[in-house]
Amino acid sequence: MFGRRQTPGKTTEQVLLMRTAGLLVGQTLELLERECRDGLTTLDLDVLAEDFIRAHGGIPNFQLVPGYSHTLCTSVNDEIVHGIPGGRVLRDGDLLSIDCGADVDGWNGDAAVSLVVGGPDAGTDADRQLIATTQDGMWAGITALAVGARLYAVGDAVEASIIASGEAQGHDYGIVEDYVGHGIGRTMHEDPQIPNYGVRDRGPVVRSGFTGAIEPMVTWGSADSRVLADDWTVVTTDGSRAAHWENSVAVTDSGLWVLTALDGGRARLEAAGAAYAPLAG
Ligand code: MG
Ligand code: MG
Repeated sequence: MFGRRQTPGKTTEQVLLMRTAGLLVGQTLELLERECRDGLTTLDLDVLAEDFIRAHGGIPNFQLVPGYSHTLCTSVNDEIVHGIPGGRVLRDGDLLSIDCGADVDGWNGDAAVSLVVGGPDAGTDADRQLIATTQDGMWAGITALAVGARLYAVGDAVEASIIASGEAQGHDYGIVEDYVGHGIGRTMHEDPQIPNYGVRDRGPVVRSGFTGAIEPMVTWGSADSRVLADDWTVVTTDGSRAAHWENSVAVTDSGLWVLTALDGGRARLEAAGAAYAPLAG
């Protein structure tokens, strides 16, 4: 018979190195969430992030992607992902998604958050719901990961969570299918791809030590996207707003360790009844 495909797996030592990179990404995003305010440009945030990452011994790994020269992707309102930092001035009530990555000693982290500029009270109910629904979908996908599970259970869980949130809210969200999550390790983007939505294939079997980035993108309206003339920025075709959340996660026989979360994912994993399993050196 055919052997079942398996994901790659990292050693304990390698996962610990990835935690160092992931933690720096998480700390950078925390800094940006704190500093982000009306009147700053998206390039201001990018400079803050680059200075912070380099000051802590990291390299902005987005700059290692051919053709890209920034530290962040900053996607505002109807921009889904891959917005290029620049002169755009952020205003209270903007829905901002910040995607950040760092390479520390040759190992990578990759994570994203979505927020309302000026704080949740500056946003609409719809934006707050879109952000929370996307974040919940990401955690549902993360908690679907387990050694021996099929990898594409992640997308099934993300999709089920977003549909359930939408039904509870009386709203039909768009789940973007044009971009996917991915393995991560020596480089930011490794095989296999990880759809953030349900697919027919069940995917490879998750091996102990697997490290991947789970990153749903959700829209208030249609999930259809297009790329702007800058060749990077992905926007909704209907102009509706979008959110994006991402974490890099390690899966071991003991459970999950969310490498880019400051608490390692402990709070959300325990709330979901999932095993929080940091590794020790
Ligand atoms: Mg990312
Ligand atoms: Mg990613």
